[in-house]
Amino acid sequence: MDSYRHKGLRKKLVAELIQKGIRDERVLEAISRVPRHLFLDKAFEEWAYKDTAFAIDCDQTISQPYTVAFQSSLLQVKPGEKVLEIGLGSGYQACVLSELGAKVYSIERHKALHDKTAARLRDLGYGVIRTFYGDGYQGLPRFAPFDKILITAACPEIPQALLDQLKEGGCLVVPLGSDQETQEMIRVTKEEGGTFKKEKFGYFRFVPMLHGKV
Ligand code: SAH
Repeated sequence: MDSYRHKGLRKKLVAELIQKGIRDERVLEAISRVPRHLFLDKAFEEWAYKDTAFAIDCDQTISQPYTVAFQSSLLQVKPGEKVLEIGLGSGYQACVLSELGAKVYSIERHKALHDKTAARLRDLGYGVIRTFYGDGYQGLPRFAPFDKILITAACPEIPQALLDQLKEGGCLVVPLGSDQETQEMIRVTKEEGGTFKKEKFGYFRFVPMLHGKV
């Protein structure tokens, strides 16, 4: 359940994110609406509004709020846009995108995690988010093209299939690099005529994007 205490803790988290440099008002607003404590095991609830990543099922993590806010800001989501997320995980990032007005499609390669998160999203009133059990390297050709694509796992190289599923004028945000080291946050914009512009935004650490379903 959400409470005034949790809302107060979210306000503090938002203040911390502003201090760390997040400026996008709509992203901050979205973060202040999503009850992060309901995306973690009960044992971690006390710490849900600390700006840190946490372990979730299947050896995966819920990203640090700063990272979620940073990636969401880079995507510049406009209401009504179709956004594909690779790495549903806990579903927290997907909810932030949904709060930004995106039509969210999200893929997860762990069946158990996918099913648990899909149920959670329904329970929390985020049933509009479309979740898929599958391999994110393939994207979702049936629903392409997408205005924006967000990869929330460390990706050794940008999958061509995902670039193909991006609309002209759209962008893809990805932590690029192999799993051991840190990864560089990259935004790739598909320009008119199908050329790509690459921008770099510093270093982060993610769990790896792996091939195949489990
Ligand atoms: N966005 C998530 C962060 C999850 S961590 C959140 O807000 O909680 C990254 C997730 O990507 C993990 O759940 C992992 O299982 C998933 N993942 C890794 N490789 C994948 C792939 N090829 N396709 C789909 N999901 C993948």
